[in-house]
Amino acid sequence: MLSATLARVPALPSPSEQEEMIACHACGLVHRLPPMTHRTIATCTACGTPICRRIERSIEKTLALYLGALLLFVVANAFPFMTMSLEGNATATTILDGARALYREGMWPVALVVLLTGTVMPLLKITGMLYVLLPLQLGVRPKGLSAAFRWIDKLHPWSMMEVYLLGVIVAYVKLSDLATIHLGYALYAFVAAIILMAAGDAALEAHAVWRRLAPQAGPEVLHHRPGTELVSCHECDQLVRVPAHAHDLACPRCTAPLHKRKVDSITRTWALVLTAAILYLPANLYPVMTVVSFGHGEPDTILSGIMTLLAVGMWPVALLVFFASITVPVLKLLGLAWLLITVQRGSTWRPRDRTLIYRIIEGVGRWSMVDVFMIAILTALVSLGNIATIVPGPGAIAFCAVVIVTMLASMSFDPRLIWDAIDERSDHGRALRA
Ligand SMILES: [Zn+2]
Ligand SMILES: [Zn+2]
Repeated sequence: MLSATLARVPALPSPSEQEEMIACHACGLVHRLPPMTHRTIATCTACGTPICRRIERSIEKTLALYLGALLLFVVANAFPFMTMSLEGNATATTILDGARALYREGMWPVALVVLLTGTVMPLLKITGMLYVLLPLQLGVRPKGLSAAFRWIDKLHPWSMMEVYLLGVIVAYVKLSDLATIHLGYALYAFVAAIILMAAGDAALEAHAVWRRLAPQAGPEVLHHRPGTELVSCHECDQLVRVPAHAHDLACPRCTAPLHKRKVDSITRTWALVLTAAILYLPANLYPVMTVVSFGHGEPDTILSGIMTLLAVGMWPVALLVFFASITVPVLKLLGLAWLLITVQRGSTWRPRDRTLIYRIIEGVGRWSMVDVFMIAILTALVSLGNIATIVPGPGAIAFCAVVIVTMLASMSFDPRLIWDAIDERSDHGRALRA
């Protein structure tokens, strides 16, 4: 089975010399991509995962959007985005103040994560994108292009400005009946930066950047030679024919290490899933924060915080926090454990659905950070001594660790293992997978 489907393309253009060979990263099936027109997406015929999209003038558009994002990002971080007034006292908070306040309270691990995911990673992503795209637009190849572009892809899940924004919204709702809240221009700049970055990501055709380094492999890579196998580069999607079972190979295009499958995927994913499951207990048993108001305060766990929100009638936010902080981590861990068991048992049950479940698990995990960001913002904003103070609790460290470890767990799982069992058992022996 060697074919390609194009979404939203009326008819497949006839194969030509520009034909490219590409393997689906979710199931490994090798596809023959015909020349594609502007705004078309090729999806895998076996598992439905998008493989590649074609966008005209992609580098130019993404560059323009990311230049705008950089300006807005600087404004968003330079000025206060929220001011709280209570009893004649006012505190203004910048985005960086969240991490600073957590550090002051002795919560440096959480402070570091908030600093990295809320500010450093987004800034690295923006500057990295400009570093790669600006020279390419000017017709030069920047030094270290492949390393920089590979890192941008790795940074993507850890750059969490949109999750931070959701944390701001939850913090705003929580405080709105306690104090008067004013939103600053920095918050609008922050929202606009998120929108421009999302538009930039949507306009980016990653393969257009990789093609500047070397063309995507053509049908010649399929010619079988004894003692060789097809391997797809995890980073740039180049299809390479290499000696079977060889070690320490590097992608000829982007120099990333070449592996047939993610290294020790099952063992690593199990280790991370079990670690996260253990951390889940202190994350929910210990208080994540304490609200001290006029000398009185009660520690709140994640669940009791949700109950408080429900008690005052803020059920949409209560539902959101419940979903992000309790449902998502539990379903993620159960889902990954189930995928691991089915792979280890060589299950052939509904591989397409299992691949989809994996993709959902991978995409949704970062949103659990919303509670961590909310705690950071509240700690920075509500520090009025005896009148009102919010102090983070040890549960926040454990919860932050749960989110990070579950993200690492889903990253270390290789969905192509789901399909390896299908190949071994089915009669479709001629399906070419990399
Ligand atoms: Zn696929
Ligand atoms: Zn590569």
